[in-house]
Formats: sequence, C-alpha cells, structure tokens
Amino acid sequence: MDKISILGVEIDNLSLEEVLGAVDRYLKKGDPSLIVTANPEIIMLAREDASFRACLDEAQTVVADGIGIIIASRLLGTPLKQRVAGIDLVTALFEQAAKKKYRFYFVGAKPGVAERAAANIKDSYPGIEIVGIQHGYFQEDAAIIEDIAQKKPDILLVALGMGKQEKWIKKRIQKIGVPVSIGVGGSFDVFAGEARRAPVWMQKAGLEWLYRLLKQPSRIGRMMKLPVFLLAVLASKKKN
Ligand code: UDP
Repeated sequence: MDKISILGVEIDNLSLEEVLGAVDRYLKKGDPSLIVTANPEIIMLAREDASFRACLDEAQTVVADGIGIIIASRLLGTPLKQRVAGIDLVTALFEQAAKKKYRFYFVGAKPGVAERAAANIKDSYPGIEIVGIQHGYFQEDAAIIEDIAQKKPDILLVALGMGKQEKWIKKRIQKIGVPVSIGVGGSFDVFAGEARRAPVWMQKAGLEWLYRLLKQPSRIGRMMKLPVFLLAVLASKKKN
C-alpha cells in the first residue's frame, strides 16, 4: 500500500531510501513541496486544528515519525514498512549533501543554536552548503522571506515546533519558492549539542519517547496524548 490512513490523516508508506528519492524528484521538478514528519501528537493536533490539518492534507509527503504511528498502523492491519524519524531524514540528507550539491537554509531554534548546529554539521559533513541561518524567535518575517528567496536554497529546514513550523511553511511556500521544505522540530538543538538523542538501543527498542520524557519531565502532558491516540485508533477500527 502506498498510503495508509490513521484517524483521517494519510501517511506515506515509505522507507528512508524512498523518501530520499522523493526529495530528489522534488528538487528536479522545482515546485515547492512540503514534507511533514508525523507523530501521534501531530495527528491528534490535526484533529483539533483545521488549519494544521490542511498542512497535512496538502503536504507532498507525510512520513511516519515515532513508534506510535508504527504501532497504530499495525493495530489497523495496514502495517507501515519503516519509521522515518525527522532527525534521521535530515541526517541522511546531510550525508548526501556534498555529493548531490544540496544547498540548505535553516530557520528556527533559539538565537545561536542554529548557528552552532550549522558549525557542527559543517564539521561532520565537509562540503555541505548552508546558505542562510535564522533563529526562530522573530516577530516579523518579511526580511527572512526575502533572504530565503534571494539565496535560493534547495532545502529549507524549519524548527519552530510542530504545528507552528508546518503552518509557517505552508503560508509562505509559494513566495519563498524553495523546492523542499521540512519541519524538523527540535533537530537543531540536537545538532547543536543542546539536547541529546536517546541511545541507539533505546531508539531501536522504540523507547525514544521514554528517554525524552526522562530528560524533560515537563513533556508528560504531551506524552499523555500517546495512549489517547492509540485508543482513538482502536475506536476508529471498530467503526469501520
Ligand atoms: N522554537 C522556535 N520558535 C518558537 C518556538 C519554538 O524556534 O517560537 C524552537 C525551539 O527553540 C526548539 C524547536 O522549536 O528548537 C521545538 O523543539 P521541540 O523538541 O519542542 O519540537 P516539537 O516536538 O514540538 O516538534
């Protein structure tokens, strides 16, 4: 199956390799495209917020970020082939950047964080081009839009937190004219060394959410959406 539906949100059934292939197709085509990395919180938010829902409906690709989405796909009897975490997707893009000559622009995170992330990324992936960096606590964005349009990156990474980042991209996507835009949540914090990712064994065991909860107990309110999400998925299955 190419796509599966979870609580009315269409998720693309793609491996990481296939998402990378989609990125190259979008770059070749040149039309502005939005890639959303969907986790259970994003799907729950889409149920409450119609303008966010429109972002998911209009996105060119919606990938399954988060073990909760994989569990839901199995509960529904339409298992997705792979989890594609946003941070793994951007890491894979950075790995290919020098060879494929991708030009990036970063928007988001606290002042200084995206710069530190960019410096670390340049060290780790020599030859990568990051043509612009802008922190995510701006009031006015006209100058940012102009700068992006002028620098013409291939890939725009936006870290303003889920929901906000996708809405920001959607509203400006035609004006900025970047072929590929991706909402990347807390990824710049990780690349800057401000936040750590869970150890690999926890990632593999589907426990990354638990690690984030232990590191940031204030996320408990957000995490409680996961059981609510799975119950809603089960209820939707009974109805069909
Ligand atoms: N952020 C930002 N501007 C804002 C709100 C948030 O740049 O107005 C940044 C914040 O500094 C962090 C990222 O957005 O780097 C959100 O990280 P989080 O891990 O909370 O991502 P989420 O899980 O919401 O996608």
